[in-house]
Amino acid sequence: MKDIEPKFRCAACNRGVLNRSVARCLYCGANLPEEVKLAPELIAQREAEHARREEIRARLALRSPVQAESSRINPLDVIDGVEAGIDVIALLGDGISALGDLLS
Ligand SMILES: [Zn+2]
Repeated sequence: MKDIEPKFRCAACNRGVLNRSVARCLYCGANLPEEVKLAPELIAQREAEHARREEIRARLALRSPVQAESSRINPLDVIDGVEAGIDVIALLGDGISALGDLLS
């Protein structure tokens, strides 16, 4: 796997930037250049997605005793998988919406 090379690096310590929603390098605290930082609206979007997932998770937790019997896939496992891929959440947003609609 060569593809784990971070896309952005800190100019001060040359370590990979792990969290672009934070304005500073997590290792040395140097300010990150504008092009590395996520746009504020993108950060807000991620936070909104996270809040929405938490809400869906809470709803699934309430309903799961019924759903677990009627479905072979535990909905909570699906949500956990989505959380593991937090950087692809934008791609999965529509799927989450569909899930939310299904449950509402
Ligand atoms: Zn640094």
